[in-house]
Amino acid sequence: MLAAAERAWGEECGVVGIYGDSDASRLCYLALHALQHRGQEGAGIVSCDGGQLKGITGLGLVSEVFNHSKLSKLPGSSAIGHVRYGTAGDSVLKNVQPFVAGYRFGSVGVAHNGNLVNYNELRIMLEDSGSIFNTSSDTEVVLHLIATSKARPFISRLVHACEQLEGAYSLVFLTEDKLVAARDPYGFRPLVMGRRSNGAVVFASETCALGLIEAEFQREVNPGEVIVVDRDGVSSLCLMPHKERKACIFEHIYFALPNSVVFGLSVYQTRYRIGEVLAEEAPVDCDVVIAVPDSGMVAALGYAYKSGVPFQQGLIRSHYVGRTFIEPHQKIRDFGVKLKLSPVKEVLEGKRVVVVDDSIVRGTTSSKIVRLIKEAGAKEVHLRIASPPITGSCYYGVDTPSREELISHKLSIDETCAFIGADSLAFLPLERLRGMLGHSAPTFCDACFSGNYPILPKHLDLPPSGVDTRIKEPVVLPVA
Ligand code: AMP
Repeated sequence: MLAAAERAWGEECGVVGIYGDSDASRLCYLALHALQHRGQEGAGIVSCDGGQLKGITGLGLVSEVFNHSKLSKLPGSSAIGHVRYGTAGDSVLKNVQPFVAGYRFGSVGVAHNGNLVNYNELRIMLEDSGSIFNTSSDTEVVLHLIATSKARPFISRLVHACEQLEGAYSLVFLTEDKLVAARDPYGFRPLVMGRRSNGAVVFASETCALGLIEAEFQREVNPGEVIVVDRDGVSSLCLMPHKERKACIFEHIYFALPNSVVFGLSVYQTRYRIGEVLAEEAPVDCDVVIAVPDSGMVAALGYAYKSGVPFQQGLIRSHYVGRTFIEPHQKIRDFGVKLKLSPVKEVLEGKRVVVVDDSIVRGTTSSKIVRLIKEAGAKEVHLRIASPPITGSCYYGVDTPSREELISHKLSIDETCAFIGADSLAFLPLERLRGMLGHSAPTFCDACFSGNYPILPKHLDLPPSGVDTRIKEPVVLPVA
Protein backbone atom coordinates (compact mmCIF):
# COMPACT_ATOMS: atom_id res chain seq x y z
CA MET A 1 0.00 0.00 0.00
CA LEU A 2 1.15 3.49 -0.81
CA ALA A 3 1.91 5.38 2.39
CA ALA A 4 0.35 8.80 2.87
CA ALA A 5 3.67 10.48 2.20
CA GLU A 6 3.94 8.72 -1.16
CA ARG A 7 0.47 9.51 -2.41
CA ALA A 8 -0.25 11.92 -5.19
CA TRP A 9 -1.17 15.30 -3.86
CA GLY A 10 -4.61 16.18 -5.10
CA GLU A 11 -6.43 15.74 -1.79
CA GLU A 12 -9.42 17.48 -0.37
CA CYS A 13 -9.49 21.07 -1.56
CA GLY A 14 -11.91 23.76 -2.65
CA VAL A 15 -12.27 25.22 -6.13
CA VAL A 16 -14.15 28.14 -7.62
CA GLY A 17 -14.53 29.62 -11.10
CA ILE A 18 -16.26 32.81 -12.29
CA TYR A 19 -17.05 34.03 -15.79
CA GLY A 20 -18.62 37.31 -16.84
CA ASP A 21 -18.16 39.65 -13.88
CA SER A 22 -15.76 42.60 -13.84
CA ASP A 23 -15.05 41.77 -10.17
CA ALA A 24 -14.16 38.15 -10.94
CA SER A 25 -11.03 37.90 -8.80
CA ARG A 26 -12.67 39.68 -5.84
CA LEU A 27 -15.63 37.34 -6.04
CA CYS A 28 -13.22 34.40 -6.19
CA TYR A 29 -11.52 35.72 -3.09
CA LEU A 30 -14.83 35.89 -1.22
CA ALA A 31 -15.87 32.45 -2.42
CA LEU A 32 -12.53 31.02 -1.27
CA HIS A 33 -13.26 32.41 2.20
CA ALA A 34 -16.49 30.39 2.18
CA LEU A 35 -14.47 27.31 1.16
CA GLN A 36 -11.64 27.87 3.63
CA HIS A 37 -12.69 24.83 5.70
CA ARG A 38 -11.73 22.65 2.69
CA GLY A 39 -8.06 23.62 2.92
CA GLN A 40 -5.94 25.97 4.94
CA GLU A 41 -2.45 25.36 3.65
CA GLY A 42 -2.45 27.56 0.59
CA ALA A 43 -4.67 29.63 -1.65
CA GLY A 44 -4.49 31.07 -5.14
CA ILE A 45 -6.40 32.95 -7.80
CA VAL A 46 -5.77 33.22 -11.53
CA SER A 47 -7.66 35.78 -13.57
CA CYS A 48 -7.81 36.56 -17.24
CA ASP A 49 -7.52 40.11 -18.46
CA GLY A 50 -7.18 41.10 -22.10
CA GLY A 51 -6.36 37.55 -23.08
CA GLN A 52 -3.60 37.20 -20.49
CA LEU A 53 -3.67 34.91 -17.46
CA LYS A 54 -2.27 36.33 -14.24
CA GLY A 55 -2.02 34.45 -10.99
CA ILE A 56 -1.16 34.91 -7.33
CA THR A 57 -0.68 31.97 -5.00
CA GLY A 58 0.59 31.77 -1.45
CA LEU A 59 0.92 29.59 1.62
CA GLY A 60 -1.57 30.12 4.42
CA LEU A 61 -5.18 31.19 4.78
CA VAL A 62 -7.04 33.17 2.12
CA SER A 63 -6.89 36.25 4.34
CA GLU A 64 -3.12 35.83 4.70
CA VAL A 65 -2.44 35.31 1.00
CA PHE A 66 -4.59 38.13 -0.41
CA ASN A 67 -5.07 41.79 0.31
CA HIS A 68 -6.51 44.71 -1.57
CA SER A 69 -3.37 45.48 -3.50
CA LYS A 70 -2.82 41.86 -4.56
CA LEU A 71 -6.39 41.53 -5.78
CA SER A 72 -6.04 44.73 -7.79
CA LYS A 73 -3.25 42.96 -9.70
CA LEU A 74 -5.77 40.37 -10.86
CA PRO A 75 -8.17 42.30 -13.09
CA GLY A 76 -10.49 40.73 -15.65
CA SER A 77 -13.97 39.32 -15.92
CA SER A 78 -13.06 35.65 -15.44
CA ALA A 79 -11.07 33.93 -12.73
CA ILE A 80 -10.51 30.61 -10.98
CA GLY A 81 -9.41 30.00 -7.39
CA HIS A 82 -8.27 27.22 -5.11
CA VAL A 83 -7.78 26.49 -1.42
CA ARG A 84 -5.34 23.74 -0.74
CA TYR A 85 -5.33 21.05 1.89
CA GLY A 86 -1.72 19.99 2.35
CA THR A 87 -0.16 17.00 4.01
CA ALA A 88 3.20 16.08 5.48
CA GLY A 89 6.36 17.02 3.66
CA ASP A 90 4.60 18.82 0.90
CA SER A 91 4.02 22.33 2.18
CA VAL A 92 5.71 24.14 -0.63
CA LEU A 93 4.53 27.11 -2.61
CA LYS A 94 5.01 25.44 -5.96
CA ASN A 95 2.28 22.94 -5.08
CA VAL A 96 -0.29 25.69 -4.41
CA GLN A 97 -2.87 25.97 -7.16
CA PRO A 98 -4.21 27.17 -9.57
CA PHE A 99 -1.40 26.03 -11.86
CA VAL A 100 -0.87 27.95 -15.09
CA ALA A 101 0.95 26.61 -18.12
CA GLY A 102 1.62 27.82 -21.61
CA TYR A 103 1.39 25.36 -24.49
CA ARG A 104 1.69 25.69 -28.23
CA PHE A 105 -1.74 27.27 -28.73
CA GLY A 106 -2.17 29.37 -25.61
CA SER A 107 -2.30 29.34 -21.82
CA VAL A 108 -4.41 27.39 -19.39
CA GLY A 109 -4.96 27.60 -15.66
CA VAL A 110 -6.35 24.73 -13.59
CA ALA A 111 -7.62 24.14 -10.06
CA HIS A 112 -8.36 20.60 -8.87
CA ASN A 113 -10.21 18.94 -6.02
CA GLY A 114 -9.74 15.20 -5.79
CA ASN A 115 -7.09 12.59 -6.27
CA LEU A 116 -6.11 10.71 -9.42
CA VAL A 117 -5.57 6.99 -8.90
CA ASN A 118 -3.52 6.58 -12.09
CA TYR A 119 -1.23 9.56 -11.44
CA ASN A 120 1.91 7.44 -11.27
CA GLU A 121 1.22 5.69 -14.57
CA LEU A 122 0.36 8.94 -16.34
CA ARG A 123 3.41 10.68 -14.99
CA ILE A 124 5.75 7.87 -16.01
CA MET A 125 4.19 7.83 -19.49
CA LEU A 126 4.58 11.60 -19.84
CA GLU A 127 8.13 11.61 -18.47
CA ASP A 128 9.05 8.80 -20.86
CA SER A 129 8.03 11.05 -23.71
CA GLY A 130 9.95 14.04 -22.43
CA SER A 131 7.65 15.96 -20.07
CA ILE A 132 9.38 17.69 -17.19
CA PHE A 133 7.46 18.06 -13.92
CA ASN A 134 7.72 20.98 -11.58
CA THR A 135 5.55 19.78 -8.69
CA SER A 136 4.56 16.59 -6.89
CA SER A 137 0.88 17.35 -7.52
CA ASP A 138 -1.24 15.00 -9.60
CA THR A 139 -2.93 18.07 -11.11
CA GLU A 140 0.18 18.81 -13.15
CA VAL A 141 -0.37 15.71 -15.28
CA VAL A 142 -3.67 17.21 -16.46
CA LEU A 143 -1.83 20.20 -17.92
CA HIS A 144 0.75 17.96 -19.62
CA LEU A 145 -1.99 15.79 -21.11
CA ILE A 146 -3.67 18.90 -22.53
CA ALA A 147 -0.38 20.25 -23.90
CA THR A 148 0.66 16.98 -25.53
CA SER A 149 -2.75 16.04 -26.94
CA LYS A 150 -2.94 15.88 -30.71
CA ALA A 151 -6.61 16.86 -30.62
CA ARG A 152 -7.89 20.32 -31.68
CA PRO A 153 -9.37 22.67 -30.54
CA PHE A 154 -8.75 23.30 -26.81
CA ILE A 155 -11.96 21.65 -25.64
CA SER A 156 -11.12 18.47 -27.55
CA ARG A 157 -7.68 18.48 -25.96
CA LEU A 158 -9.23 18.92 -22.54
CA VAL A 159 -11.72 16.11 -23.08
CA HIS A 160 -8.95 13.91 -24.45
CA ALA A 161 -6.93 14.66 -21.28
CA CYS A 162 -9.87 13.97 -18.97
CA GLU A 163 -10.58 10.67 -20.69
CA GLN A 164 -7.15 9.47 -19.56
CA LEU A 165 -7.69 10.41 -15.92
CA GLU A 166 -8.89 7.84 -13.40
CA GLY A 167 -10.11 8.62 -9.92
CA ALA A 168 -11.58 11.74 -8.41
CA TYR A 169 -11.52 15.13 -10.05
CA SER A 170 -13.62 18.22 -9.87
CA LEU A 171 -11.69 20.64 -12.06
CA VAL A 172 -12.03 24.24 -13.18
CA PHE A 173 -9.96 25.53 -16.10
CA LEU A 174 -9.39 29.07 -17.30
CA THR A 175 -8.12 30.02 -20.75
CA GLU A 176 -7.87 33.33 -22.58
CA ASP A 177 -11.54 33.07 -23.57
CA LYS A 178 -13.17 30.25 -21.61
CA LEU A 179 -14.05 28.95 -18.20
CA VAL A 180 -14.48 25.18 -18.14
CA ALA A 181 -15.66 22.86 -15.35
CA ALA A 182 -15.21 19.09 -15.45
CA ARG A 183 -16.19 16.34 -13.03
CA ASP A 184 -15.09 12.72 -13.07
CA PRO A 185 -17.58 10.08 -14.22
CA TYR A 186 -18.11 8.75 -10.68
CA GLY A 187 -18.73 12.26 -9.32
CA PHE A 188 -16.66 11.57 -6.19
CA ARG A 189 -16.15 15.20 -5.23
CA PRO A 190 -18.82 17.89 -5.38
CA LEU A 191 -19.01 20.70 -7.94
CA VAL A 192 -21.98 23.02 -8.42
CA MET A 193 -22.93 25.74 -10.84
CA GLY A 194 -24.72 28.99 -10.07
CA ARG A 195 -25.47 32.36 -11.59
CA ARG A 196 -25.31 35.92 -10.29
CA SER A 197 -28.08 38.35 -11.10
CA ASN A 198 -25.83 40.00 -13.74
CA GLY A 199 -25.62 36.67 -15.56
CA ALA A 200 -22.09 35.77 -14.39
CA VAL A 201 -21.59 32.01 -14.19
CA VAL A 202 -20.04 30.57 -11.03
CA PHE A 203 -18.68 27.10 -10.30
CA ALA A 204 -17.81 26.11 -6.74
CA SER A 205 -17.07 23.05 -4.63
CA GLU A 206 -19.93 23.83 -2.27
CA THR A 207 -23.15 25.81 -2.37
CA CYS A 208 -22.05 27.85 0.68
CA ALA A 209 -19.66 29.68 -1.68
CA LEU A 210 -22.49 30.49 -4.09
CA GLY A 211 -24.53 31.90 -1.20
CA LEU A 212 -21.75 34.21 -0.07
CA ILE A 213 -21.32 35.85 -3.48
CA GLU A 214 -25.07 36.01 -4.12
CA ALA A 215 -25.09 33.49 -6.93
CA GLU A 216 -28.19 31.41 -7.25
CA PHE A 217 -27.67 27.66 -7.29
CA GLN A 218 -28.54 26.25 -10.70
CA ARG A 219 -27.45 22.65 -10.68
CA GLU A 220 -24.61 20.23 -10.05
CA VAL A 221 -21.98 19.71 -12.69
CA ASN A 222 -23.00 16.15 -13.53
CA PRO A 223 -20.58 13.26 -13.12
CA GLY A 224 -18.66 12.89 -16.39
CA GLU A 225 -19.80 16.29 -17.61
CA VAL A 226 -17.69 19.08 -19.08
CA ILE A 227 -19.32 22.54 -19.02
CA VAL A 228 -17.84 25.27 -21.22
CA VAL A 229 -18.59 28.94 -20.62
CA ASP A 230 -17.48 31.53 -23.17
CA ARG A 231 -18.88 34.47 -25.08
CA ASP A 232 -21.28 32.11 -26.88
CA GLY A 233 -22.86 31.13 -23.55
CA VAL A 234 -22.89 27.87 -21.61
CA SER A 235 -22.57 24.52 -23.34
CA SER A 236 -22.40 21.05 -21.89
CA LEU A 237 -20.50 18.06 -23.19
CA CYS A 238 -20.97 14.63 -21.76
CA LEU A 239 -18.21 12.81 -23.50
CA MET A 240 -16.81 10.59 -20.82
CA PRO A 241 -18.23 7.10 -20.49
CA HIS A 242 -20.81 7.30 -17.75
CA LYS A 243 -19.91 5.20 -14.71
CA GLU A 244 -22.03 4.38 -11.71
CA ARG A 245 -22.30 7.51 -9.57
CA LYS A 246 -20.17 7.36 -6.38
CA ALA A 247 -20.45 10.56 -4.39
CA CYS A 248 -18.22 10.77 -1.30
CA ILE A 249 -20.31 10.23 1.83
CA PHE A 250 -17.51 11.73 3.94
CA GLU A 251 -18.41 15.16 2.55
CA HIS A 252 -21.63 14.83 4.56
CA ILE A 253 -19.92 13.32 7.59
CA TYR A 254 -17.09 15.80 7.97
CA PHE A 255 -15.85 17.94 5.12
CA ALA A 256 -18.65 20.14 3.89
CA LEU A 257 -20.15 22.99 5.88
CA PRO A 258 -23.62 22.35 7.35
CA ASN A 259 -25.09 25.25 5.36
CA SER A 260 -24.18 23.57 2.07
CA VAL A 261 -26.31 21.30 -0.05
CA VAL A 262 -23.99 18.57 -1.27
CA PHE A 263 -25.00 15.96 -3.88
CA GLY A 264 -28.53 17.30 -3.60
CA LEU A 265 -28.79 16.71 0.18
CA SER A 266 -28.61 19.29 2.96
CA VAL A 267 -25.50 18.59 5.03
CA TYR A 268 -27.25 19.99 8.11
CA GLN A 269 -30.21 17.65 7.72
CA THR A 270 -27.96 14.63 7.13
CA ARG A 271 -25.94 15.33 10.27
CA TYR A 272 -29.01 16.09 12.40
CA ARG A 273 -30.64 12.84 11.30
CA ILE A 274 -27.43 10.92 12.00
CA GLY A 275 -27.54 12.31 15.56
CA GLU A 276 -31.13 11.16 15.94
CA VAL A 277 -30.27 7.70 14.63
CA LEU A 278 -27.32 7.48 17.04
CA ALA A 279 -29.66 8.28 19.93
CA GLU A 280 -31.97 5.46 18.79
CA GLU A 281 -29.10 3.03 18.29
CA ALA A 282 -27.01 3.83 21.34
CA PRO A 283 -29.09 5.42 24.10
CA VAL A 284 -27.51 5.89 27.53
CA ASP A 285 -28.62 7.40 30.84
CA CYS A 286 -27.04 10.83 30.89
CA ASP A 287 -27.47 14.39 32.17
CA VAL A 288 -26.16 16.43 29.27
CA VAL A 289 -25.32 16.10 25.55
CA ILE A 290 -22.34 18.07 24.28
CA ALA A 291 -20.57 18.30 20.92
CA VAL A 292 -16.99 18.36 19.81
CA PRO A 293 -17.22 21.67 18.00
CA ASP A 294 -17.60 22.33 15.15
CA SER A 295 -17.72 19.00 13.36
CA GLY A 296 -19.91 17.18 15.92
CA MET A 297 -22.28 20.08 16.54
CA VAL A 298 -25.26 19.30 14.31
CA ALA A 299 -25.27 15.57 15.09
CA ALA A 300 -25.17 16.42 18.83
CA LEU A 301 -28.26 18.60 18.39
CA GLY A 302 -30.01 15.67 16.70
CA TYR A 303 -28.91 13.31 19.48
CA ALA A 304 -30.12 15.69 22.20
CA TYR A 305 -33.47 16.22 20.50
CA LYS A 306 -34.12 12.51 20.06
CA SER A 307 -32.95 11.53 23.54
CA GLY A 308 -34.76 14.42 25.26
CA VAL A 309 -31.58 15.32 27.15
CA PRO A 310 -30.50 19.00 27.08
CA PHE A 311 -27.74 20.05 24.71
CA GLN A 312 -25.11 22.29 26.27
CA GLN A 313 -21.83 23.80 25.17
CA GLY A 314 -19.41 21.74 27.23
CA LEU A 315 -16.43 22.45 25.00
CA ILE A 316 -15.52 25.87 23.62
CA ARG A 317 -13.56 26.00 20.43
CA SER A 318 -10.95 28.65 19.83
CA HIS A 319 -11.51 30.12 16.40
CA TYR A 320 -7.95 31.32 16.19
CA VAL A 321 -6.37 27.87 15.87
CA GLY A 322 -6.59 25.96 12.57
CA ARG A 323 -7.71 22.38 12.19
CA THR A 324 -5.17 20.39 14.11
CA PHE A 325 -5.41 17.34 11.88
CA ILE A 326 -3.47 19.09 9.15
CA GLU A 327 -0.41 19.54 11.33
CA PRO A 328 2.14 17.16 9.87
CA HIS A 329 3.66 15.90 13.10
CA GLN A 330 1.92 13.96 15.84
CA LYS A 331 3.66 15.95 18.61
CA ILE A 332 2.20 19.21 17.35
CA ARG A 333 -1.21 17.63 16.82
CA ASP A 334 -1.15 16.58 20.49
CA PHE A 335 -0.86 20.20 21.60
CA GLY A 336 -3.44 21.21 19.07
CA VAL A 337 -6.35 19.56 20.85
CA LYS A 338 -5.79 21.55 24.06
CA LEU A 339 -5.18 24.74 22.15
CA LYS A 340 -8.36 24.29 20.24
CA LEU A 341 -10.85 23.05 22.83
CA SER A 342 -11.49 24.26 26.37
CA PRO A 343 -13.91 22.49 28.72
CA VAL A 344 -16.69 24.36 30.54
CA LYS A 345 -16.49 23.06 34.12
CA GLU A 346 -19.96 24.33 35.03
CA VAL A 347 -21.51 22.14 32.33
CA LEU A 348 -19.45 19.02 32.98
CA GLU A 349 -18.71 18.73 36.71
CA GLY A 350 -20.40 15.73 38.32
CA LYS A 351 -22.38 14.97 35.15
CA ARG A 352 -22.92 11.91 33.01
CA VAL A 353 -21.93 13.37 29.65
CA VAL A 354 -22.68 12.21 26.10
CA VAL A 355 -20.15 13.74 23.74
CA VAL A 356 -20.80 13.59 20.01
CA ASP A 357 -18.05 13.84 17.38
CA ASP A 358 -18.14 13.28 13.62
CA SER A 359 -15.51 10.55 13.24
CA ILE A 360 -12.54 8.78 14.74
CA VAL A 361 -9.46 8.47 12.55
CA ARG A 362 -6.34 7.63 14.57
CA GLY A 363 -8.12 7.91 17.89
CA THR A 364 -5.71 10.39 19.40
CA THR A 365 -8.09 13.37 19.35
CA SER A 366 -10.89 11.42 21.04
CA SER A 367 -8.67 10.17 23.85
CA LYS A 368 -7.53 13.70 24.61
CA ILE A 369 -11.06 15.05 24.52
CA VAL A 370 -12.30 12.34 26.88
CA ARG A 371 -9.43 13.12 29.24
CA LEU A 372 -10.19 16.85 29.05
CA ILE A 373 -13.85 16.28 29.93
CA LYS A 374 -12.97 13.94 32.80
CA GLU A 375 -10.41 16.40 34.16
CA ALA A 376 -13.19 19.00 34.18
CA GLY A 377 -15.05 16.75 36.63
CA ALA A 378 -17.42 14.70 34.46
CA LYS A 379 -18.63 11.56 36.23
CA GLU A 380 -19.05 9.52 33.05
CA VAL A 381 -18.14 10.19 29.40
CA HIS A 382 -20.07 8.39 26.68
CA LEU A 383 -18.66 8.95 23.19
CA ARG A 384 -21.05 8.83 20.23
CA ILE A 385 -19.56 8.98 16.75
CA ALA A 386 -21.66 10.29 13.87
CA SER A 387 -20.15 7.92 11.30
CA PRO A 388 -19.33 4.23 11.01
CA PRO A 389 -15.80 3.15 12.00
CA ILE A 390 -13.21 4.25 9.40
CA THR A 391 -11.42 1.06 8.43
CA GLY A 392 -9.86 1.99 5.08
CA SER A 393 -7.85 4.78 3.48
CA CYS A 394 -9.41 7.05 0.89
CA TYR A 395 -7.88 7.17 -2.59
CA TYR A 396 -10.25 9.81 -3.90
CA GLY A 397 -9.15 12.95 -2.13
CA VAL A 398 -9.97 12.71 1.59
CA ASP A 399 -6.79 12.84 3.60
CA THR A 400 -6.87 9.65 5.62
CA PRO A 401 -3.70 8.06 6.95
CA SER A 402 -2.59 4.60 5.86
CA ARG A 403 -4.87 1.78 6.97
CA GLU A 404 -2.40 0.65 9.61
CA GLU A 405 -2.82 3.97 11.42
CA LEU A 406 -6.62 3.83 11.53
CA ILE A 407 -7.68 2.79 15.00
CA SER A 408 -10.84 1.06 13.77
CA HIS A 409 -8.74 -1.06 11.43
CA LYS A 410 -6.60 -2.22 14.34
CA LEU A 411 -9.04 -2.44 17.24
CA SER A 412 -12.60 -3.59 17.90
CA ILE A 413 -15.13 -1.05 19.20
CA ASP A 414 -14.64 -2.30 22.79
CA GLU A 415 -10.85 -2.09 22.46
CA THR A 416 -11.14 1.39 20.93
CA CYS A 417 -13.34 2.45 23.85
CA ALA A 418 -10.73 1.19 26.31
CA PHE A 419 -7.93 2.94 24.38
CA ILE A 420 -9.84 6.21 24.37
CA GLY A 421 -10.79 5.88 28.02
CA ALA A 422 -14.52 6.49 27.53
CA ASP A 423 -17.22 4.83 29.64
CA SER A 424 -18.98 3.75 26.46
CA LEU A 425 -18.45 4.20 22.73
CA ALA A 426 -20.86 3.79 19.84
CA PHE A 427 -20.59 4.45 16.11
CA LEU A 428 -23.32 4.94 13.55
CA PRO A 429 -23.84 1.48 12.05
CA LEU A 430 -23.06 1.45 8.31
CA GLU A 431 -26.41 -0.18 7.58
CA ARG A 432 -28.24 2.69 9.30
CA LEU A 433 -26.24 5.22 7.27
CA ARG A 434 -27.15 3.41 4.06
CA GLY A 435 -30.74 3.12 5.25
CA MET A 436 -30.89 6.88 5.77
CA LEU A 437 -29.73 7.44 2.20
CA GLY A 438 -32.47 5.10 1.00
CA HIS A 439 -32.59 4.26 -2.69
CA SER A 440 -29.70 6.67 -3.37
CA ALA A 441 -27.31 4.74 -1.04
CA PRO A 442 -25.64 2.88 -3.95
CA THR A 443 -24.79 6.24 -5.55
CA PHE A 444 -22.48 7.06 -2.61
CA CYS A 445 -18.90 5.88 -2.07
CA ASP A 446 -18.53 4.56 1.48
CA ALA A 447 -15.25 2.72 0.85
CA CYS A 448 -13.57 4.18 3.96
CA PHE A 449 -16.24 2.39 6.03
CA SER A 450 -17.01 -0.65 3.90
CA GLY A 451 -13.88 -1.39 1.88
CA ASN A 452 -15.94 -1.31 -1.34
CA TYR A 453 -13.60 0.72 -3.52
CA PRO A 454 -15.14 1.71 -6.85
CA ILE A 455 -11.68 1.97 -8.43
CA LEU A 456 -8.32 1.07 -6.93
CA PRO A 457 -5.04 2.85 -7.52
CA LYS A 458 -3.10 0.96 -10.14
CA HIS A 459 -0.12 0.23 -7.90
CA LEU A 460 -2.36 -1.81 -5.59
CA ASP A 461 -2.93 -4.19 -8.52
CA LEU A 462 0.81 -4.83 -8.87
CA PRO A 463 1.74 -8.49 -8.44
CA PRO A 464 3.96 -8.96 -5.37
CA SER A 465 6.95 -9.59 -7.64
CA GLY A 466 6.07 -6.74 -10.00
CA VAL A 467 8.49 -3.90 -10.53
CA ASP A 468 7.47 -1.05 -8.28
CA THR A 469 7.61 2.03 -10.45
CA ARG A 470 6.00 4.34 -7.96
CA ILE A 471 6.97 7.97 -8.20
CA LYS A 472 9.14 9.08 -5.36
CA GLU A 473 9.04 12.65 -4.15
CA PRO A 474 11.52 14.68 -6.19
CA VAL A 475 14.74 15.29 -4.28
CA VAL A 476 16.41 18.66 -4.75
CA LEU A 477 20.16 18.24 -4.47
CA PRO A 478 22.22 21.13 -3.11
CA VAL A 479 24.30 22.87 -5.74
CA ALA A 480 27.95 22.17 -5.00
P1 AMP B 1 -7.98 11.44 15.17
O1 AMP B 1 -8.93 10.32 15.49
O2 AMP B 1 -7.22 11.95 16.32
O3 AMP B 1 -7.04 11.07 14.04
O4 AMP B 1 -8.84 12.69 14.64
C1 AMP B 1 -10.21 12.59 14.43
C2 AMP B 1 -10.80 13.94 14.13
O5 AMP B 1 -10.21 14.52 12.97
C3 AMP B 1 -12.26 13.78 13.79
O6 AMP B 1 -13.04 13.97 14.93
C4 AMP B 1 -12.55 14.82 12.74
O7 AMP B 1 -13.14 15.97 13.31
C5 AMP B 1 -11.22 15.12 12.16
N1 AMP B 1 -11.09 14.54 10.81
C6 AMP B 1 -11.63 13.42 10.33
N2 AMP B 1 -11.27 13.20 9.04
C7 AMP B 1 -10.49 14.23 8.71
C8 AMP B 1 -9.79 14.61 7.52
N3 AMP B 1 -9.83 13.87 6.43
N4 AMP B 1 -9.08 15.73 7.55
C9 AMP B 1 -9.02 16.48 8.65
N5 AMP B 1 -9.63 16.19 9.79
C10 AMP B 1 -10.35 15.08 9.84
